[in-house]
Amino acid sequence: MLAKPLVEKLEQIAGKENVLTSKISLEIYAYDASPFTGNPGAVVFPTTTEMVAEIVKLAKENNVPLMARGAGSCLSGGAVAPGGGIVLSLTKMNKILEIDPLSRVAVVQPGVTNKMVQEACAPYGLMFAPDPASQNIATIGGNIAENSGGMRGVKYGTTKDHILGLEVVLSSGDVITTGGINSQIEPEIDLTYYFCGSEGTLGIITKAWLALSPINSKVKTMTAVFDSIEKAGACVAEIIAKGIGPTTMEILDNTCIKAVDDYLQLGLPRDAAAFLLIEIDGFQSDVKIMLEGIIKAFENNKALEYKIAQNEKERQDLWKARRSVNGALGKLKPAYFTHDIVVPRDRLADMLGKVAELAQKYDIIIANVAHAGDGNLHPAFYYDHRIPEEVEKVEIAADELIRETIAQGGTISGEHGIGIEKLKYMTWAFSKPTLQMMQDVKNAFDPRAIMNPGKLLPQVGDE
Ligand SMILES: Cc1cc2nc3c(=O)[nH]c(=O)nc-3n(C[C@H](O)[C@H](O)[C@H](O)COP(=O)(O)OP(=O)(O)OC[C@H]3O[C@@H](n4cnc5c(N)ncnc54)[C@H](O)[C@@H]3O)c2cc1C
Repeated sequence: MLAKPLVEKLEQIAGKENVLTSKISLEIYAYDASPFTGNPGAVVFPTTTEMVAEIVKLAKENNVPLMARGAGSCLSGGAVAPGGGIVLSLTKMNKILEIDPLSRVAVVQPGVTNKMVQEACAPYGLMFAPDPASQNIATIGGNIAENSGGMRGVKYGTTKDHILGLEVVLSSGDVITTGGINSQIEPEIDLTYYFCGSEGTLGIITKAWLALSPINSKVKTMTAVFDSIEKAGACVAEIIAKGIGPTTMEILDNTCIKAVDDYLQLGLPRDAAAFLLIEIDGFQSDVKIMLEGIIKAFENNKALEYKIAQNEKERQDLWKARRSVNGALGKLKPAYFTHDIVVPRDRLADMLGKVAELAQKYDIIIANVAHAGDGNLHPAFYYDHRIPEEVEKVEIAADELIRETIAQGGTISGEHGIGIEKLKYMTWAFSKPTLQMMQDVKNAFDPRAIMNPGKLLPQVGDE
């Protein structure tokens, strides 16, 4: 709980109706989608950039931690406030300010959801390429702060590749604008990049200029089934190596296939070791060539069967299966956390095999759904948090997987962020001078360390 005079000041700035301090409200905002919990002192819903700036100044003057929050779908503990302080929910700043179809730019407030942007752009034949599986709820502010990826990452990259500019409230309370509609040709130091993936530790994003991409009308969606997850991984690696440019390549392992089929009854191949979902788009002639190359890769890697969606309903069923994985897995155990490792794609098959091997070695459930096209695996560890031996086993297996990832030349997070969860892994993955450089950047933007403290950058004791 915050001191009463501070709460009154917040109410003066944002209006009483935009400040929550009741026990039940604070409890609700103590969670995100990770196993970590926080202890917020107040939750404030600013509606303008000026309000955000005033709140930041108040936090600075009183040395109170401040955490920006979107939908709270963060999987790494980035959106909980264990050190207390003010939770700044941007969800009431949720307007699409402008769509310029000729320049292919959308200007949006941070609390607008990814899905709202997609729906607003679609009538112009445009899309915002980043499409995290959480797009129905996740906000653009959260997408930028986490540098989110998604199903189309293999073709379009991650969020940072589609941000032209930002309006940001700094920890001083000053408001800056970085980049903008002409950012690709401006000769400045690119401040926009600093905020993409900074997990709310450098400033509060209050407006964003999004680069939009055309929606290709010719789309083909297909699946292939394999009797080993390594073969599915090898198939993905072959498609990449051949230079075929699919939009999506997602792998579901057997645990995911069964869970989704139980949930949706789509008639998925329940006995298969792996299910590969691929989508391609482009001009008709390109799609034809890509399809031929992909079918060859299915055959080379001994797919048990493959299927091309024949109509929009079949295509939507396949996407429904993919998008339902996380929800469907929920009933396996009372608790879970998910890793978000990335490996070079020629190591994908080995790494998928390693995950299965660890599940067997420690006799635990690890469900694996992967943005395989960009080498991004999501091994999710399911366990009962009330049984200490189970907790211990998943923690040991999770650490072993990270060590193997680093040994394979991979990285510890592709899109879910470091948050609290991966703090200790930062010291495994980065050298001391590299971490110090990151800390120097943090100090320059946030000298009082009030912006989302305890996240992203390890401190003494986190190793
Ligand atoms: C079922 C499920 C599926 C998911 N699938 C994907 C996926 O495919 N790809 C992917 O990348 N992620 C995925 N995620 C993770 C998560 O949805 C993303 O990280 C998302 O971008 C977070 O958005 P949010 O609005 O929920 O942000 P929050 O969780 O509220 O916040 C996340 C971080 O961003 C910061 N932040 C939020 N808003 C601002 C702002 N305006 N200014 C500065 N900092 C801010 C917060 O301080 C916090 O550190 C998934 C999560 C779930 C639960």
